[in-house]
Amino acid sequence: MFGYKCSKCDEGTVREKIILKYPTKMMGYPFVVDEAKLGICDKCKTEYFSDIETQRWERLFEESLLENKLFLLPQETIDIRKQLDLSMEQFAFLIGCTRQSLHNWGKKNRSQPQSRTADLMMKLVYKSQIEGQIDVTGFLIEEAQKLGITIILSQKAADKSDSLSQKEILEELYRLHDTTIPIRDVRNALIIRDADLRETIKQGLDRIGPTEHFHEEYCEYVCHFENGDQMLWVKQYPTGDLTIEGHAGELYKRILEVIIPAYNMKYPGTKIFIRDYIAL
Ligand SMILES: [Zn+2]
Repeated sequence: MFGYKCSKCDEGTVREKIILKYPTKMMGYPFVVDEAKLGICDKCKTEYFSDIETQRWERLFEESLLENKLFLLPQETIDIRKQLDLSMEQFAFLIGCTRQSLHNWGKKNRSQPQSRTADLMMKLVYKSQIEGQIDVTGFLIEEAQKLGITIILSQKAADKSDSLSQKEILEELYRLHDTTIPIRDVRNALIIRDADLRETIKQGLDRIGPTEHFHEEYCEYVCHFENGDQMLWVKQYPTGDLTIEGHAGELYKRILEVIIPAYNMKYPGTKIFIRDYIAL
């Protein structure tokens, strides 16, 4: 599939690489591919994509929409109306759409689901039928997170509406706080595409205090950490690759405590955990 010459730098060869938890966008929504097959130039790290593979990603995305119930299914849109004991005209008027739209969303073989606005409105109506009073903002934030969009409220607003993923991140940090990590060989890679996230991570690493900063060709930065017999190199490439290599335990945990929470805040749909990286 790959193996051809890189057209960007005209020097390297594009080699096939499997990347775990590859963050991308589908239909404008952030989406993480569990095992993505990419071509990467061994010189300049430019990424190449094959049509077959991107088509596979599109199918995965559609499946995840269904599996994660990101949109109400056709029958569900009908059931919600029936539970309210409303005619199609009445229900359409209630949620602010046309009867024809309602009719289309209820078709088993519909070509596309209802708009996100209509979907959220129907879900809210349904939820309030079941639970009575509901936290509308909190509900909408959770729905956005299902699509990988983090909406962080100001502290004052957040007190009223607790964000699930932030809570999970904190819980893991507390849990790992007293855990001792044995020293082992470390060789890991993440893809950090977002420039803001890269900056957040870099600042976090600087706060830990690298023993040295190196300049390396094709790297945005290289941080070297050393502590007794532990040592680690963290390298950020312009294409997004962030590699962590060396031999460490506690030091490795401290670095992950910077990277993983920042990553999860940016891509809450992915839910990667520090414990998966240190294999506890
Ligand atoms: Zn290249």
